[in-house]
Formats: sequence, structure tokens, C-alpha cells
Amino acid sequence: MRPTVLCFSGLDPSGGAGLQADIEAIGQSGAHAAIACTALTIQNSQQVFGFEATSKELLLAQANAVVKDLPIKCVKSGMLGTTDNIAALAEFLREHPDYLYVLDPVLVANSGGSLGNQETLVKAFVELVPLATVITPNTVELRALTGEQNLEKATAKLFEMGAKAVLVKGGHEDTPDYIRNALYLAGELVSETKCPRLAGEYHGSGCSLASFIAGRLAQGDELKVAVNHAEAWLFGVLKKAESPIPNGQKIPKRF
Ligand code: PLP
Repeated sequence: MRPTVLCFSGLDPSGGAGLQADIEAIGQSGAHAAIACTALTIQNSQQVFGFEATSKELLLAQANAVVKDLPIKCVKSGMLGTTDNIAALAEFLREHPDYLYVLDPVLVANSGGSLGNQETLVKAFVELVPLATVITPNTVELRALTGEQNLEKATAKLFEMGAKAVLVKGGHEDTPDYIRNALYLAGELVSETKCPRLAGEYHGSGCSLASFIAGRLAQGDELKVAVNHAEAWLFGVLKKAESPIPNGQKIPKRF
């Protein structure tokens, strides 16, 4: 059986982001994806209309069922929805200290729609930070998590909060021609990639990248190798992304 990544993520009915992005990206990375569903969202490629979160009991019951019979090597979290679910995931990770863990600190959708109460989620994420093998914030999430506007200071603060490795994704920065991602290990910059900025908005690009990294880690890649591999793969699937409607967010073509 392929090494398995257990994803704690929400359902996006458009199929662009959330657990469908996770399943497709992890499948493409060569690993198997298992899902503990954190929430059912109501959204399309343009807008989030609402969501209903899973109870922490139901979330843990899903995770504990698959732990018994799947070869889980890595956990990946995306939308968690509530502070209860964040606490439940922290409890689960402490029970399984041998699992690698990719924390994608999702706060809002790319369309700007709410995927939880940002203020309380930010406080609760603090518990997950030291448990993660790598954290993959975009710069909006990095600033929100640390309360620091300056990116170098914000990254340093995340390490003070107990982070082991951080991939800072630059897609939200004002760099019209390129996107710069930077990987830090134990506070040091170890890898920097710049790729041309593609036109348009993409739905589920963050989920896809974090999940592909988790899939490669589950198969034994070193972190830097997994990240570089995932970035190259993501660029390819974003280039092929499809627009359901003119000017809507594009859905990455992960197959
Ligand atoms: N998880 C769910 C369920 C979502 O609906 C979204 C965005 O809509 C995300 C995660 C984050 O998506 P992205 O990869 O675009 O940051």
C-alpha cells in the first residue's frame, strides 16, 4: 500500500480547493490520501456563502478509524473551521508523535470569503505551530499569525513560537511579474524560488502545494526536495488551470 497522508480538510463543492485539491495533489505526488473532514462549505469558484463545521468528536472518530488500518506517514491540515477542531487535531498529533505534519494555516479563502473566525483561529493555531514539520503560510496568513507586518520579523517570530520549518508563499505580495517563495529551516533561509506570475486568480493553489509537499514527505523526500518538487508541479497545473466563467477564479488542472 502507498504511504498515506491523512488530511484534516474541508469540502469545497466547486472541487477547486479543500479536500478535493488534497486528494488530487496527493494522488499526483504518488501517495494515497485519506480524509478527516473538518467542515462542509457552501461555495463556488467565485464566492464562499457559508460553512458548517464538523464536531470535534466526529472529526477525531474519522481520523481514529483510518489510523487503525492505513499506513499513515504524514498529516496535512487545511481549513479547520473552529478552535475545537484545532484543539482536537493538536490532541491527535500528540498521540502520534511519529507522524510528519504539514500545517497550511488556512484563515480565509482566496476569494476573500470567511472559513472561520479569524481572530480566534489565529490564537488557536499557536498550539499547532510547534507540532508541524513545516508550516506553509502565504504572507497574509504569516502576518496574521504573528501580528508582524515586516516579513523577516514575522518569519523570525514564527520560529520563536516553536516552528521547525516555514515555507513563506509570496503570491499575495505586490510583485507583478513573479512570485517568490522562501523556505526557512530552523530560522535560516535554505531555498528561494521565483516563478513567473501567471495571469488571473486560482482556487486551491495553496491546498494543492501543501498537499503535494505532504505526499512527497510521506514517501521519504527531504523537506527541501519535497518543496521544490511541489513548486514545479504546481506551476504546471496552474498553467493548465480552467476558468468555469470569464474572470472567475481558475481551477487547477491537477490531472
Ligand atoms: N479549504 C477549503 C475547504 C476551502 O474552501 C479553501 C478556499 O476556498 C481553502 C481551504 C483554501 O484554499 P487556497 O488553496 O486557495 O488557499
